[in-house]
Amino acid sequence: MSKSSSGQRIAIIGAGPAGMAAALSLSQTEHEVVLFERYKEARPAGNILNLWPPPIKALGLMGVDTKELGAPCQSEFRRADGKVRAVIHLPQAVIDEYRGGFIGMLRPQLYRRMLAALPDGVLRLNQQIDSFDQDETGVTLRLSDGSIEKFDVLVGADGIDSLVRKTLWGDSPKRDHKLHIFGGFTFQDVPGIERGRCVVSHTKTVQGSWTSIRDGDRNGYQWWVLEATHGEEDSGDDLYGRAAKLGSEFAFPLPELIAATDPADVQRWDIRDRVPMKQWSQGRVTLVGDAAHSTSPYAAYGAGMAIEDGYFLGRRLAGVDLSDQAAVEAALKAYEEPRKPHTKLQSNLAFNLGRVFHRAPALLRPLRDLVFDHTGMLQKVIGDATPGEIIAQLDEIDHAETAFRGEVASSAA
Ligand SMILES: Cc1cc2nc3c(=O)[nH]c(=O)nc-3n(C[C@H](O)[C@H](O)[C@H](O)COP(=O)(O)OP(=O)(O)OC[C@H]3O[C@@H](n4cnc5c(N)ncnc54)[C@H](O)[C@@H]3O)c2cc1C
Repeated sequence: MSKSSSGQRIAIIGAGPAGMAAALSLSQTEHEVVLFERYKEARPAGNILNLWPPPIKALGLMGVDTKELGAPCQSEFRRADGKVRAVIHLPQAVIDEYRGGFIGMLRPQLYRRMLAALPDGVLRLNQQIDSFDQDETGVTLRLSDGSIEKFDVLVGADGIDSLVRKTLWGDSPKRDHKLHIFGGFTFQDVPGIERGRCVVSHTKTVQGSWTSIRDGDRNGYQWWVLEATHGEEDSGDDLYGRAAKLGSEFAFPLPELIAATDPADVQRWDIRDRVPMKQWSQGRVTLVGDAAHSTSPYAAYGAGMAIEDGYFLGRRLAGVDLSDQAAVEAALKAYEEPRKPHTKLQSNLAFNLGRVFHRAPALLRPLRDLVFDHTGMLQKVIGDATPGEIIAQLDEIDHAETAFRGEVASSAA
């Protein structure tokens, strides 16, 4: 599609996974795109990451090099001693096409690949947006350097503390899960580990998990341990020591992987999200990623859904006359409506699993574990439900892509 024919401009605030994906998808349309990032580089907040096949598929369609991006893993839920409680069985065709179910990687690699696919001149670093307003003719952005710019559409990809969401819908408190997570990675060889696995395991109160990763030409492992917070004493400096202590309750290879990790490669996060919103878009402004649906790391799908959002938004705005307010509103509605049930389900599932596994009253824990160990409940809720969600997203991408290719062909004719 020709950019010069329309001269219509879209601003995106925030160069995280959501903003980069929106910029990539919109750059494939006739619209001109500017991606504003407040920092001097698009920097990943954290190290560990897994992506499901739908975001991998969307990345490929948006021109990102997904070859050898991460290590494909089959995911299992286990008890701390290694007994399997649930397995996520994706169809073999999906595994074959996307090299596996859950792809383990380090976040900087994803950023490098997405940035490499962005057309020159789209990303503007060191540009913080302080405020904006909109009317029927467009959206006016005010930058912290004092400059003012006008666009036809604004996309808020500015994360959990989104200025765009707050401006549209007002402030709301974050949902504090009262959990924290320690994560790290290692490329050291630990003999005896099966590659191609993502194992999520639980004691009565702690989660200890690991997956294979691939970073460039190196194979390794990432791991995380997660527990309820108890107050100030949780924020001590010895992240590595605390992680090693929590990990020591788990079967091989988690303690060995933590032992093989450089303490400098261990990070800690408090787990917070926000209650899913009923509406994302207003007038000429919409939201993508954590700005729209802040998702706990428990879901391990926040970045994946952010990439999906960016992809779908670009496809919906292709061919839309951005000077036509009604057409913009209809396109933004068509973007957000199918996204809301999927993202709400994942956010709330993560919130609820966190409560069940880590904040259940002590008296109820034996009963909970009896159910998880001796009924198919966990298999039903996670093992059998997850593939359906993944396949539905892959199908939606197929539909969006067919419509987009039709739009491209008709505008070229
Ligand atoms: C420990 C941990 C593990 C996780 N594991 C996974 C996982 O395995 N799989 C997965 O899919 N997800 C995972 N997530 C979740 C994932 O990291 C987030 O959901 C994802 O980063 C959200 O992307 P985003 O682009 O919406 O927001 P962000 O990544 O927060 O990016 C927002 C960007 O906006 C910029 N910005 C903000 N305000 C402004 C402004 N006013 N002007 C200009 N720029 C601005 C910020 O600097 C930032 O670059 C994990 C999260 C954590 C903490």
